[in-house]
Amino acid sequence: MAAVQETKVTPYQMYIGGRWVDASNGATSEILDPSTEEVIARVPKATVADAETAVKAAREAFDKGPWPRMKAVERGDLLRRAATRIRERADELARLESLQMGKLFSEAIVDMSDAAHTFDYYAGLVVEAHGETLEVPGDTMSMVVREPIGVTVGITPWNYPMLMAAWKAAPSLAAGNVMILKPASVSPLTNLELAKIFEEVGLPEGVFQVITGPGGEIGDYLAASPLVDMVAFTGSVEVGKHIMRQGAENVKKVGLELGGKSPNIVFADADFEAAIDGALVGIFAGTGEVCSAGSRLIVDRAIYDRFVGELVSRAMAIKVGPALDEDSEMGPLVNKQQLATVEKYVQIGRDEGATLATGGHRLEGRGYYYEPTIFVDVDNKMRIAQEEIFGPVLVVIPFDGEQQAVEIANDTIYGLAGAVWTKDVTKAMRVVKALRAGITWVNTYHPTYSEAPWGGYKQSGVGRELGTYGLDEYTEVKQINIDLTDAPMGVYQRGKDKNVAGNRRVVPLSDRRPFRGDESKTDESWVQFCENCQPGL
Ligand code: NAP
Ligand code: MG
Repeated sequence: MAAVQETKVTPYQMYIGGRWVDASNGATSEILDPSTEEVIARVPKATVADAETAVKAAREAFDKGPWPRMKAVERGDLLRRAATRIRERADELARLESLQMGKLFSEAIVDMSDAAHTFDYYAGLVVEAHGETLEVPGDTMSMVVREPIGVTVGITPWNYPMLMAAWKAAPSLAAGNVMILKPASVSPLTNLELAKIFEEVGLPEGVFQVITGPGGEIGDYLAASPLVDMVAFTGSVEVGKHIMRQGAENVKKVGLELGGKSPNIVFADADFEAAIDGALVGIFAGTGEVCSAGSRLIVDRAIYDRFVGELVSRAMAIKVGPALDEDSEMGPLVNKQQLATVEKYVQIGRDEGATLATGGHRLEGRGYYYEPTIFVDVDNKMRIAQEEIFGPVLVVIPFDGEQQAVEIANDTIYGLAGAVWTKDVTKAMRVVKALRAGITWVNTYHPTYSEAPWGGYKQSGVGRELGTYGLDEYTEVKQINIDLTDAPMGVYQRGKDKNVAGNRRVVPLSDRRPFRGDESKTDESWVQFCENCQPGL
């Protein structure tokens, strides 16, 4: 008897207030494998009421729970245990990532390792000395301490589900905050597994929650909620702007990691083979669904024809196929909408008069596969050079001279990343310095480090993730000023004896903060003096 081929549909619950729950109205949504278009899982489709429950649980956990009050070293230990579990389960988690959003297994496994490292890194960083003491005038000791912000919300995209969760949860939790994570609807599964890991290692109730549901309702509610203190969002510029507006409701802190149209500049003196490879990695890694993709290749006219010729023949040889197939060099696009977006932009490029050198078609059959696509002789003013496509579509633009290369590179609303290929170190430094972008590379493309700040200039975002900068974003800064004199400040002493300080030392006015004014005046003249000056800083 022939076995009936049947894909298993795994039911998931979401993690709210330390419990695994369905949506309050029982609604679910399906998760598809973009390599096959088959349903692989079903997750709760949360309601606003569920989001309210999560916010209440988060408030409770932050306002009264042990997490923010715990020693930093203990929080670090728990995060490290989570990192260890991610490593132990890396194969299984990477497979799940590939299944739910189509990234190659070889790429997903790197994401798992990077995610684990991010937790380890912040577990270590949180016990490093931070804060400072300040030299201030007068007999005052002044210091700065960092404290958690409170209830933080992470809203993440589908292209790096596990890694984006780690980039947000690790610094937030390390700093003593609590976090509600709202993953992209198409790919919440590895984040739900992350919640299982946190439950297993013993994270207190309500400290980390994962709510699955539509961004337009759940994300929107969380971004506007006055009980939420910070939203860290990664996603499109359009939604980022909306979240910023929603956040204005209670002046919450908003971190935005948005899109890009990053320049990858190749000079004639670059190592040819390395630059070709870097151009391919820049655009086709992750099927081009990468915020920092080198989607605008800006090539020195002196080598343009030869470079483009080699690039195109190499792109044509890339094997597109299922995410879990070891032979595949590029996986499918994430879903039907993304495929439609790519098709739309390829048509726009044709209409704008750019030359399609290779690609430009989806692959026949099931799965959302698209050919590696290259437009050449592109004008930077074209829409395909200005708008983020988020797929395997490269535009190639020739340049004459360093100055023009920089002008083209910076002629964009975005400022996320950029790279320069040249053997001339001073030229490389001049150009990266001139790039208006937060992440730059010289003679490489894409390496990303938990230790280094990640984020964009211009419309690519606000704030930074990763590194010490990323930890700072999840903290409030408090100054503490301690008066060391025991003397009254002497502001409202009209009815008192002039010798206000009794047997205490009479503090000269110049040392008497917060008064500022005529420093020659002493305590005897404080009444007249203070009629003309403002208390406070
Ligand atoms: P998206 O449509 O902006 O969605 C991102 C997240 O926001 C999803 O969780 C989404 O939920 C949610 N969302 C949607 N509408 C919302 C609303 N009105 N209020 C609150 N949340 C809402 O982006 P995407 O298509 O998933 O991801 C692609 C984009 O992310 C690209 O532009 C890319 O450049 C950017 N990205 C940037 C970085 C970076 O580090 N700078 C990294 C990765 C990706 P649903 O899924 O339920 O709609
Ligand atoms: Mg999917």
